[in-house]
Amino acid sequence: MAQKVLVALDQGTTSSRAVVFDTAGHMLAAHGVEFPQIFPKPGWVEHDPHDILDTQTTALRQAVKLSGVDVADIAAIGITNQRETTLLWDRETGECVHNAIVWQCRRTAHYVEKLMAQGYGDKIREKTGLVPDAYFSGTKLAWLLDRLDLHERAERGELCFGTVDSFLAWHLVTGRPHVTDATNAGRTMLFNLKTQGWDDELLAMMDIPRACLPQVVDTAQVIGTLDPAILGRPIPVAAMAGDQHASLFGQACLHPGMVKNTYGTGCFMLMNTGEELVSSRSGLLSTMAWRIGGKPTYALEGSVFMGGATIQWLRDEMKLISTAAESEGMAKSVKDTGGVYLVPAFTGLGAPWWDMYSRGTLIGMTRGTGRAHVVRAALEAIAYQSADLMDAMAKDCGHAPTQLQVDGGASANGFLMQFQADIMGVNVVRPRVMETTALGAALLAGLATGVYGSLEETAAVWQRDLTFEPQMEDYHRAQLLAGWHKAVERSLRWAKE
Ligand code: ADP
Repeated sequence: MAQKVLVALDQGTTSSRAVVFDTAGHMLAAHGVEFPQIFPKPGWVEHDPHDILDTQTTALRQAVKLSGVDVADIAAIGITNQRETTLLWDRETGECVHNAIVWQCRRTAHYVEKLMAQGYGDKIREKTGLVPDAYFSGTKLAWLLDRLDLHERAERGELCFGTVDSFLAWHLVTGRPHVTDATNAGRTMLFNLKTQGWDDELLAMMDIPRACLPQVVDTAQVIGTLDPAILGRPIPVAAMAGDQHASLFGQACLHPGMVKNTYGTGCFMLMNTGEELVSSRSGLLSTMAWRIGGKPTYALEGSVFMGGATIQWLRDEMKLISTAAESEGMAKSVKDTGGVYLVPAFTGLGAPWWDMYSRGTLIGMTRGTGRAHVVRAALEAIAYQSADLMDAMAKDCGHAPTQLQVDGGASANGFLMQFQADIMGVNVVRPRVMETTALGAALLAGLATGVYGSLEETAAVWQRDLTFEPQMEDYHRAQLLAGWHKAVERSLRWAKE
């Protein structure tokens, strides 16, 4: 019998991808298709639902074709997706009533202000683990129901709400299941992390009828079979997970205290907290890691707004480098930053600082400061911000992590990874397969269909490529961190009158 394969559908913010893996986790083929971003007004972001569906189907067909595998050998398909993006469609026709409202869209900021003014902030935080924000799906759905005057239709069960996982499942799976997985549900601001169900009090706060909500299923669970019109065979669709959760799984962070950081445009750090739902004192989010066999595993999540984007800024605005990769050699060309710190608070600072009035600060320069010092300070800033997040997580949950698993575009930078290890004082581990999000979705689907007999078997697929070990003396680390925190202090409250 031919070796079985697993396919991941990775529906992202700017492109839809599909990746074919063998059961040992080797990538056999991948294909991605970009689609347009729609900006109807400043601060508003939408996607055409047809684009999401068409590019995802094309990516799937192409990836399978490129891999050369026989469709009959595909054991299962897993879905991973951009989180929080909100869709609403007609249960009868499947047509969406509006474009998808993308996670970045700020149109419902005033809904959130109203909820806060009504004193609901603590309640939302306590039940959902989230810091109330327009980013999450709840107020986006409320906006659609209000603006299009759809409350009555929603009450009558004529409409279906869903995040992208839910939308894809409805359209790709035979029998049109209206489902979402617990990781995606956990980003709606309507889902109670403790009870693992939609919360009536939250629904009432946002005036959302239960009848339009999907059934919440496990992260690894067969939800049906792929419509045979797509690949010619009914393949089990066996996992759904938000992208950061899939990546935590793909990094094999299966035990409490294990952490991954994805260095993309921004950085996303998630720490597995096991069965314990930890509430943060530093403004981190509590969220699902995944739900398997009905059992929830929780996580803490924090993000750095300016991660790789800091390097884009050096390249595009400052013109200090011509490619992102060049930053590595330039940083290594000097022995340190010469006391220079860059705090890239261009849009304010998130956890653990939470100051939207903080602004970008370049400080500590002398007459001898040159281009390489500034480039090095920018890379170091990505590591300092991530170190602050990890520190906050460790304080919140009492697990001091012993290593950090990394992925994402900027994790290719060896200088950054070594400095990260030095400044955190833990091993930084880069895996062989960097497509951890897609790998996570594939492994979850394999787990649900018996390709892997246990969680441990999925973890065995993960393989280390490089480990960066801390080499910095403790006193030196403490000195650098003190300098960084002093620089952050100078950047705070800058834009406030
Ligand atoms: P996203 O998924 O958010 O688009 P990617 O994972 O593709 O992000 O990573 C792209 C980001 O990584 C960009 O912001 C880019 O500046 C940064 N980046 C890519 N390569 C390097 C490098 N060698 N050194 C530093 N930053 C890099």
